[in-house]
Amino acid sequence: MQIPHVMIVGGGFSGTALAIHLARNATAPLRVTVVEPRQTLGAGVAYSTQEPAHRINVPASRMQLSGDEQGAFDRWYRQQPECSLDSVAHCADGAVYPQRGMFGRYLAELFAQAVLQHPQVTLRHIQASALAWEGQQLLLSNGETLEGNVLALAISHPPPSLPRALLPFSAHPALIANPWQPGVLDNIDSHASVAIIGTGLSMADVVASLATRQHRGPLLAFSRRGQLSRANLSGEWPEWTLAPQPQPSTRLWLHHIRAEVARAAEQQLPWQRVLDEVRAQGQSIWQSLSLREQQRFVRHLRSWWDVHRYRIAPQVAAEITQRQQAGTLRVLAARLAAIASRGDQLDITLHTRDGATEHHPLDHLIVTTGPGHEALTASQPLLLSLSQQGFIRADALGFGIDVDRHSHTLTRSGQPSQNVFVVGPAARARFGELMGLPQVADHAAEVARQILLSLHIKHAERCPPLAP
Ligand SMILES: Cc1cc2nc3c(=O)[nH]c(=O)nc-3n(C[C@H](O)[C@H](O)[C@H](O)COP(=O)(O)OP(=O)(O)OC[C@H]3O[C@@H](n4cnc5c(N)ncnc54)[C@H](O)[C@@H]3O)c2cc1C
Repeated sequence: MQIPHVMIVGGGFSGTALAIHLARNATAPLRVTVVEPRQTLGAGVAYSTQEPAHRINVPASRMQLSGDEQGAFDRWYRQQPECSLDSVAHCADGAVYPQRGMFGRYLAELFAQAVLQHPQVTLRHIQASALAWEGQQLLLSNGETLEGNVLALAISHPPPSLPRALLPFSAHPALIANPWQPGVLDNIDSHASVAIIGTGLSMADVVASLATRQHRGPLLAFSRRGQLSRANLSGEWPEWTLAPQPQPSTRLWLHHIRAEVARAAEQQLPWQRVLDEVRAQGQSIWQSLSLREQQRFVRHLRSWWDVHRYRIAPQVAAEITQRQQAGTLRVLAARLAAIASRGDQLDITLHTRDGATEHHPLDHLIVTTGPGHEALTASQPLLLSLSQQGFIRADALGFGIDVDRHSHTLTRSGQPSQNVFVVGPAARARFGELMGLPQVADHAAEVARQILLSLHIKHAERCPPLAP
């Protein structure tokens, strides 16, 4: 009998976590191949950065591969020489915020362990990109073709999409369209005038990276609302229990959460504890809303939710505050009204939210609007090939790929494709809160369970199944 074969495209956190969960839980022989062009597995877009200023945005104790190994990364990190060498990682309350690359290294070690500890599952990494799906075969950039029983897509973060007004300037020397590319910030002069489009997490990464390069020139960050990601909370705080809220409406939820924040404040508890609880219940809240209400959330509330929910490490927040206080960083609610080239520089005109017009000559304009999730299914040849053949389709909210409650992709006509799965944040239109590590880790464990079920392989019962 042939050993079933699971093909995973993408070896960032989601694909690697899925492979490890399959290895740990398959009770019969299985082959698992992870196709990933990076040299090591586990890092993906978030944890492959070698920038020392890029830190995990929650304490290490909250990063894990599965719910039953809480604190494992924190313990591992504290045993590494980097922990004592990186004094900035340590907060006064004892929490550590390691450089993001350390988490990638940790996952690569877990994968290597899984290869050794679960010999009945053959785990393999092919260092290549998957280019197309043709005649039941996956075509790879190294010339190999793969055939298998299950295809799992673990591709979450495409490069940032360039705002339309910037398209004619895509090759301009002053424009940095993708700040994640290694080395792109290295040639910025320490006195250069720099503007950043976007004021979220990627902007915080850029400000922190410029600080390590001793940049002290004028820095202007702008977005329509000019909202900065909030800082993470230090210290130990009691948990908050949300009062029940049965109304399936975005507006009522907003009122309810505001009232809960006020109630918490009366007890001297910070808003972050309330939001943490909303986030913990995020999947069930999201799934109780109709598509119309979800669309309302995306239109009116998402940018507010994002800056409160995706918080930044205290070290990065301190750098931003320090530059704001020194007057070298301005954060503005404004939209880009015009842009023109002047030699190697760019001139931009901004219309601010309070009605003023500002002109700025710039040495560099950096785009930090984040991954172009709305264009994921058209962002690369493999996903285009799968959508053209009708195996996948974009979801209705512009988050990624449409899936059913078992994470099967939905075909062009809305039917589940039995052997194609999505693992990780690309499935979040269905599940809601599916971006931070704890939820992505749980999702990978659940998709492993679904895949084993579809292959009629019994799952090793280590922990109770998650509610779908
Ligand atoms: C910059 C950033 C920082 C973050 N920081 C934190 C944090 O501090 N804490 C936290 O809890 N969460 C954080 N997150 C969120 C979270 O951890 C990520 O969403 C999670 O890592 C998702 O990983 P992924 O594997 O699904 O996707 P990705 O990271 O996008 O990985 C996908 C992988 O697929 C590969 N790939 C793509 N196309 C192909 C193809 N055709 N063939 C083969 N391989 C392919 C890519 O090379 C990539 O390695 C962060 C996210 C980002 C983007």
